[in-house]
Amino acid sequence: MFTLAIVGRPNVGKSTLFNRLVGKRLALVDDQPGVTRDLREGEARLGDLRFTVIDTAGLEDARDDSLPARMRRLTERAVEMADICLFVVDARAGILPDDRVFAEILRRKNAHVILAANKAEGTAAEAGVLEAWELGLGEPLPLSAEHGEGLGDLFHVLTPLADAYAARAAAEEPEEPVTDLTVDAETDADLPAYRAPTPQRPLQVAVVGRPNAGKSTLINALIGEDRLLTGPEAGITRDAISVSFDWGGTPTRIFDTAGMRKKARVQDKVEKLSVADGLRAVKFAEVVVVLLDAAIPFEQQDLRIADLAEREGRAVVVAVNKWDAETDRQGKLRDLKEAFERLLPQLRGAPLVTVSALTGRGLDRLQDAVVKAHEVWNRRVPTARLNRWLADMTAAHPPPAPGGRRIRLRYMTQAKTRPPGFVVMCSHPDKLPASYTRYLVNGLRDDFDMPGTPIRLWMRSQS
Ligand code: GDP
Ligand code: GDP
Repeated sequence: MFTLAIVGRPNVGKSTLFNRLVGKRLALVDDQPGVTRDLREGEARLGDLRFTVIDTAGLEDARDDSLPARMRRLTERAVEMADICLFVVDARAGILPDDRVFAEILRRKNAHVILAANKAEGTAAEAGVLEAWELGLGEPLPLSAEHGEGLGDLFHVLTPLADAYAARAAAEEPEEPVTDLTVDAETDADLPAYRAPTPQRPLQVAVVGRPNAGKSTLINALIGEDRLLTGPEAGITRDAISVSFDWGGTPTRIFDTAGMRKKARVQDKVEKLSVADGLRAVKFAEVVVVLLDAAIPFEQQDLRIADLAEREGRAVVVAVNKWDAETDRQGKLRDLKEAFERLLPQLRGAPLVTVSALTGRGLDRLQDAVVKAHEVWNRRVPTARLNRWLADMTAAHPPPAPGGRRIRLRYMTQAKTRPPGFVVMCSHPDKLPASYTRYLVNGLRDDFDMPGTPIRLWMRSQS
């Protein structure tokens, strides 16, 4: 168990996030004398994580000056009480002077900081998320507390920390500070190299698909019949049921939504609810396996979930199940590939693997594809190579010149991984047509071998 403090200036969404993490499990307000009385504390749940969360919201009522001394003092107090600070900024408002005051407090206190850019739903917030890099606190995690988006990413960031705190508690070494656990504090120039999954940090996979596509059969084939039926680890979570196992030598944690689907069936809202469950699983996964039934592939629901996985920034592998029942396999495969390209252009190049969950055929190839997709999702391209590439791309096909002034793409760097995200310094980014951005994204995909992963590309003006 660890303690997380949510800090940040008023109105960025701290309470909204607190309420989302804690729900109705709000602890009684601490009655100790002194300042703690003003801090709300609750027991948070996120996936199978449990931790204590401290909220510093509601302190802004004392409106003495721009950042009341009281709020500053309470924030410092919360930081001292917490193991980890979730520093929230407002991606819509951008970075304000008060945000820098908080960043300074956190730096001075030497706090372990996770930076979150809230209100990040929709495209209006993209610039703000990017701007948050300027705080020098590492990669901003886009969140939408109100819409519940980005919580899967928060879960991924917190999981290794939670494991470390649990290990530390077990080892009874409370005086040992956790110093080597910087949370992907990557800067533009220094993204981490690919780290292969470990038993502590398994590759997180979700299997999603329509009812009867064969999800349960597949998961049972992978982990062995009994484990799923006799109650997987972390079965208590309300978000998704997960099981950890060794998949062809790779520590893997797989999320299953079948249990919830069964419940949904009772409620006779199968379609609607299973999409919601799939969505939940997608949020917790790094790689999403979209499982199709070969007999009825690419139905509306399959497309919706694949698209959602892409929008959530997950790596996607399409698995076509029940291949054992197909007779004209060659013709079928041709049709499938054609339909895939036509219906899901945003997932161009994503692997399509034919499997039989029933006989076990193709499951090795599925595993290969999942590991490869994970690796690509973590891909890092050196800045020097990117800029040589950008020069070639703009020479081969120059950007347009609206009003006679050519848009210049000057410089490019990779700002993030998981999925790969790139920033291009550009004159008049607002005038650059979407077709040109697509040209660059497709080029990145082909030239740096990044099939099947969402690629983010931001145009930023140099000012
Ligand atoms: P706090 O002062 O930091 O605790 O902020 P609140 O949680 O009270 O939120 C301030 C305002 O931002 C409220 O009107 C919320 O509804 C809104 N808000 C919170 N989270 C989000 C979000 O993810 N997206 C958007 N658009 N608004 C949000
Ligand atoms: P879920 O609803 O996605 O979890 O699907 P199930 O795993 O419950 O499978 C639905 C039905 O499809 C069951 O009758 C399975 O036996 C059948 N099924 C699953 N995988 C295969 C397969 O690879 N080949 C064939 N022929 N049938 C399968």
